[in-house]
Amino acid sequence: MVKAVAVLSSSEGVSGTIYFTQEGDGPTTVTGNLSGLKPGLHGFHVHALGDTTNGCMSTGPHFNPAGKEHGAPDDEVRHAGDLGNVTVGEDGTASFTIVDNLIPLSGPNSIDPDDLGRGGHELSKTTGNAGGRIACGIIGLQG
Ligand SMILES: [Zn+2]
Repeated sequence: MVKAVAVLSSSEGVSGTIYFTQEGDGPTTVTGNLSGLKPGLHGFHVHALGDTTNGCMSTGPHFNPAGKEHGAPDDEVRHAGDLGNVTVGEDGTASFTIVDNLIPLSGPNSIDPDDLGRGGHELSKTTGNAGGRIACGIIGLQG
C-alpha cells in the first residue's frame, strides 16, 4: 500500500487535507475533507508541478503525462489530473472519495515526487477549467 497526502491552503481561508492510497497496480483512492469554500461545485485537479512559489498559479497545467485534452474523469480523453468536481455543502465543507485509474502513486506516470512529477493540487472556483485557483497543496508520500 502506497500512501500520499496533500494539505491544502489558501489566502482565502480554504483548508483541507487530501489522502491518496494505492494497492499494487490498482486504482488510486482519493479521500478529502475541505472547508471554507462557497457552496456548490468546485473543480478538482492534480497539477503538473509542486511549485507554490507563486501560490497556486505556479503549479502548472493539469497533470497530463499522456498529452491529452482536458476532460471529465469518465472520459476516454482527459488529463490524468482531471478529477471532476467536488460538491460543497451549505456549510462550506465537503467530504468525498474518488477512485481513479490514471493517478498512480508509483511508476512512470506517478503523481508522487519520486519521479519529478511532483503533484500540485488545485480547486478551481467554477466547474471545468475556467475558474481561479483558490486552494492548493503539494502531494507528498507518507511513510
Ligand atoms: Zn484538465
